[in-house]
Amino acid sequence: RTVYVNGEYLPEDQAKVSVFDRGFLFADGVYEVTSVLGGKLIDFAGHAKRLQRSLDELQMANPVTEDELLEIHRELVRANGIEDGLVYLQITRGAADRDFAYPKEATPTIVLFTQAKPGLADSPLAKTGMKVISIEDQRWGRRDIKTVQLLYPSMGKMMAKAAGADDAWMVEDGHVTEGTSNNAYIVKGNTIVTRHLGTEILHGITRAAVLRFAREAQMVVEERPFTIEEAKAADEAFITSASAFVMPVVEMDGQPIGSGTPGRVTARLREIYLDEMRKAAV
Ligand code: PLP
Repeated sequence: RTVYVNGEYLPEDQAKVSVFDRGFLFADGVYEVTSVLGGKLIDFAGHAKRLQRSLDELQMANPVTEDELLEIHRELVRANGIEDGLVYLQITRGAADRDFAYPKEATPTIVLFTQAKPGLADSPLAKTGMKVISIEDQRWGRRDIKTVQLLYPSMGKMMAKAAGADDAWMVEDGHVTEGTSNNAYIVKGNTIVTRHLGTEILHGITRAAVLRFAREAQMVVEERPFTIEEAKAADEAFITSASAFVMPVVEMDGQPIGSGTPGRVTARLREIYLDEMRKAAV
């Protein structure tokens, strides 16, 4: 595999980052994951915009322009022959003598690599639906910044696996925040409910597009907190993320949601999302 690190395209075993990198020592870094379908990038502009916001919130310099970033994404997709897959991008504050305060001068470290995922848009889970469990949300309070500090979501995934489920929805003060690596939704009748934007959740790029398409299709969208009890009583549930697109959720804590099979609204949104985003891919 060819990877990109600090201005160079290298075979993965030759790419190196300092042991003093603050990404490694403090999780002082941010990331983005962009899907590739048919060799093209899905919603690159959305990811580039959120990347800049994450960097700004952490007063971290961006070592590349948006045009350069697009070029690097495209070159890695080409070099690795990616038809369907992902491009992972990470920027950390860089290497500095270990100190909690941000160093005055550090050169950011930028790393990109690809992951091939043949048939990414035809996942069997889209047909069967996911099983989720509910767990307490024990993450830090700035979930709107897409940092590489992902240990609690990893723990959540392991809790889900141990319970025979596919993922976990996190609950804070009685209300669902989001999934371990996705935004969470329920559907009641023709109304789609998902948590409002704030510091409690990541502002999903897929979320923004899906809510836009839902409104354009005359569906009703309510952006507000909802409970696990509401989810269990919903007609449908689903999640969104850049790599899963729109994915049905059919079971919560061992109880079926609605009919226990992927719902009609979810299926329609998935279809619209994939159609529209493929057309707009770059
Ligand atoms: N919420 C969390 C915690 C995530 O980690 C992610 C994606 O990684 C999302 C939501 C979905 O965001 P996006 O649609 O931009 O992939």
